[in-house]
Amino acid sequence: MPRLSDRTRLIASATRRGEGRRPVNPPIERASTMLSDDPASMQDATPGPIYGLDGTSAARELRTALADLEGASEAFLVPSGLAAVTVPLLALLRPGDEVVTSDAIYGPTRRFLTRHLAARGIATRFHPADSSTADILALCAERTRVLLIESPSSLTFEIVDMPALTAACRTRGVLTVMDNTWAAGLALRPLEHGVDVSVQAITKYVAGHSDLLMGAVAVQDCEVARAILHTIEDMGWHVSPDDAWLALRGLRTLPLRYNEALKSALLVAEWLQIQPEVERVLFPPLPGSVGHDLWRRDYSGGAALLGVVMKGGDKASAHALMSALDLFGMGYSWGGFESLITHETPQLAHRLYKPDLPGQLLRLHIGLEDPADLIADLENGLEAWRALQDSNLQHPA
Ligand SMILES: *Cc1c(COP(=O)(O)O)cnc(C)c1O
Repeated sequence: MPRLSDRTRLIASATRRGEGRRPVNPPIERASTMLSDDPASMQDATPGPIYGLDGTSAARELRTALADLEGASEAFLVPSGLAAVTVPLLALLRPGDEVVTSDAIYGPTRRFLTRHLAARGIATRFHPADSSTADILALCAERTRVLLIESPSSLTFEIVDMPALTAACRTRGVLTVMDNTWAAGLALRPLEHGVDVSVQAITKYVAGHSDLLMGAVAVQDCEVARAILHTIEDMGWHVSPDDAWLALRGLRTLPLRYNEALKSALLVAEWLQIQPEVERVLFPPLPGSVGHDLWRRDYSGGAALLGVVMKGGDKASAHALMSALDLFGMGYSWGGFESLITHETPQLAHRLYKPDLPGQLLRLHIGLEDPADLIADLENGLEAWRALQDSNLQHPA
């Protein structure tokens, strides 16, 4: 039988579970202590978890489904998306090792590299976000143990040639860890392209409802899997049964939500890029955008996240635009059902290699609202932006 499509597999994993009369969904089992029938079987993990930290049914079912989605032998759950990035780094790096990553890496990941790891003798070399494959590889030196990839990158959406990088890293003994949150484990299977560890923030699209924090770490190689398991065990990290249950519920409808949001995001992006106030839209699925060619080659979908580079403007005009919107919430994170807007120019200050943008950078997350309503809302935002530009022209500071 041919491989079933992802949307079928994610649902079939529920209907195929178990035998006899049963609920579609696993029960929520809140447990620290698990009881055994007799003293001899207390240490036997075959009939199920020995202790709550091992995870109860929803967590186990979620792990199996995520491993299946990523084409992994194992998927582990950790308490946040950030922990999904930090766990493999803690597991694989030793003092004296080095990491190579993009200057446009997710902010809290950068903080972990420059604060926690640096203090423990593990240095990071940052490459410019738009580096070529050759330039990234040239940064990998004798002590480089891990290449950390996030593609598209945070805020500016550059895409690296991941298959070329992983192939080269394999010959040099450099492990690759990829933050695959943007693809939600759905639009790209990094392990199939030779990545050693694929991680994602379940918080975003899998959860899908802005109501929980979780991360997943997917691996193929059993030695890497063991190192990651040991780190999770040693740290005592755990996800709650309720959160695992909610994440599993989100996972069933992931492909529908993800693909619908992408369709809307394309409509909004096409509209935005012809507005006179907008310089360009950073959105790899959009023809002509940064990253579009590699996106078309490697990805089967994308997150509904748009970088909007305005023509000029300042903090006041960005804030005026945001305040004029009714449907876009002002909030961090993304992947939920709701549309969001953030002002990102201040975040770019952390970069070593500043991107050359002619104006303010906003980020939109397109949710599941009707895109026509979102465009009408954005029209009001642009009007507020224009009004401020005009009054600045009339009364220059
Ligand atoms: C949000 C995000 C994370 C972290 O997820 P949390 O659950 O919020 O810790 C990691 N990587 C990327 C690319 C993200 O967007």
